[in-house]
Amino acid sequence: MESTMGESRPDATHHVDNQPPEFAPRDLWADDAALRESLGREGAARWEGGVARYGALAGSALYALGFDAHRDRPRLRTHDRFGHRLDVVEFHPNYHAVMEAAIGYGVAGLSWRDGRPGAHVARAALSYLHHQVEPGSSCPLTMTHAAVPVLQQVPVLAEWAEKAAAPHYDPRNLPISGKSGVTIGMGMTEKQGGSDVRSNATVASPLSGDAYSLVGHKWFFSAPMSDGFLVLAQAPGGLTCFLLPRWRPDGSRNAFRLMRLKDKLGDWSNASSEVEFDGAWAHRVGEEGRGVPTILRMVMLTRLDCMLGSSAQMRMALVHAIHHARHRRAFGRRLVDHALMQNVLADLAIEAEAALLLSMRVARAVDASTRDPGEAAFARVATAIGKYWICKRAPAFVNEAQECLGGAGYVEESILPRLYRQAPLNSIWEGSGNIQCLDVLRALGKEPDCLDALRRELAGASGLPDGFLSGLESQLAGAGESTARRLVERLALGLQAAVMGQAGSPLAGDFIASRLVDTHAQTLGTLPVGVDLEAAIERALPG
Ligand SMILES: Cc1cc2nc3c(=O)[nH]c(=O)nc-3n(C[C@H](O)[C@H](O)[C@H](O)COP(=O)(O)OP(=O)(O)OC[C@H]3O[C@@H](n4cnc5c(N)ncnc54)[C@H](O)[C@@H]3O)c2cc1C
Repeated sequence: MESTMGESRPDATHHVDNQPPEFAPRDLWADDAALRESLGREGAARWEGGVARYGALAGSALYALGFDAHRDRPRLRTHDRFGHRLDVVEFHPNYHAVMEAAIGYGVAGLSWRDGRPGAHVARAALSYLHHQVEPGSSCPLTMTHAAVPVLQQVPVLAEWAEKAAAPHYDPRNLPISGKSGVTIGMGMTEKQGGSDVRSNATVASPLSGDAYSLVGHKWFFSAPMSDGFLVLAQAPGGLTCFLLPRWRPDGSRNAFRLMRLKDKLGDWSNASSEVEFDGAWAHRVGEEGRGVPTILRMVMLTRLDCMLGSSAQMRMALVHAIHHARHRRAFGRRLVDHALMQNVLADLAIEAEAALLLSMRVARAVDASTRDPGEAAFARVATAIGKYWICKRAPAFVNEAQECLGGAGYVEESILPRLYRQAPLNSIWEGSGNIQCLDVLRALGKEPDCLDALRRELAGASGLPDGFLSGLESQLAGAGESTARRLVERLALGLQAAVMGQAGSPLAGDFIASRLVDTHAQTLGTLPVGVDLEAAIERALPG
């Protein structure tokens, strides 16, 4: 017998078994029945070809690019080696590749370039697909998208609006005249106040015409490599919105200094900075004193993208959990064949679909808002409701999906840690949870059309449990600040039930049974008896 002593026998110690295959490449569009159904239902069928192509690209090339774009964090370069100020941020090349693809497909600009009804819904679908694979870059994409209607209000800024909506990504640090496409950031939050933007202390002094000089700071200033920024500052007539470009109209560098980049929990591929304005040139947008209503047009759209983003995080976490459970065996069976795991996965599938369907319904309302006052009122209030609820649900959801992968879900090579770090962000920025709830109270109290729009939508729901709507009316009648979260949560659940019913989702009845009839337990994976668990999982990700 031949001796093996001293010889290397890798198979003896390194046998890889019972591990799932790679998740990607996958076609994120083809896999997602709820998305495919909602695109046509919400009025964007004519864009199906482009959205489908983006879904295939997102699940393959962009998914792969996202890992390094995220891991290799942006670096701030304040000065060159001679001491001249630069104030630029360097990104991994994959970040630029992802941005180029997204802007080329219209993640930022489609709804402004194509004015036909449904374009906002198509862009929402693109944004949802994009966020699944590279959520950090969703920040500059959504800000660029949302800035366009604000810029369009000012005829002399038409070039900015057109180039922000253009399908061209140009990361070069040049004046707008030398670029075919631009990106836009937003600066509201200061050290002393973020939610309370009226406490902004940055001062805007008139120069001539609509030009002002800004002195002050912003405490959170994401995507600082953008070509221009919509910012708030105190003008003589009160808080006012301005476009602050990277370069002055005379071609010189504008006077803003990037002080440092935030060391963030997540969102690593996206740079968020602190900035100071030292006599920075800016162009007024809207009237003096009307800064908040002016920039709120932008914020309404970014809030919708927070809903879409959190829905996207849920979707990506869910499909990874299902994929893993289909390939991993424990106690003699695949994880997905264990009844309790089925309950967890099916519950996640129901939650993810409800989040997407409400987001897409709100996207349709945004789309129709210029043509239909009822839809405008619905968009106004349902954005705040959905932003609150869907973004609040995401962290617990992603954590539950992460646990389905066991230890592997805690390891950076899977996408789950990245999603987990990203998950709390949507509920903080663009108005955090309490601010959304207060906004719902404000809309319901001051804008009767919003309450009518909500009632219309809820009345269209079928299968709601007895007493649900009357209970909601009692809550509405007694609505106050301290109970606003309870009210908004019930409104969100009612709306999700309504949109799932209207959509004919096979999960609509299960949603109502688990969230409205039988009060859902404190964790996911607690569906009541009677839900077809396997069917819910199969719908979420065809096996
Ligand atoms: C990664 C990241 C990137 C960001 N990028 C940008 C950016 O590009 N541009 C920008 O302008 N901002 C940006 N922000 C800032 C963000 O919008 C603010 O952090 C957010 O609006 C909250 O403001 P704040 O941090 O000042 O908290 P605060 O306003 O101090 O709020 C703290 C808490 O108090 C609650 N609260 C406030 N008022 C009330 C009230 N009346 N009743 C009950 N509760 C209340 C809030 O809901 C919150 O939970 C970014 C933030 C992060 C984390």
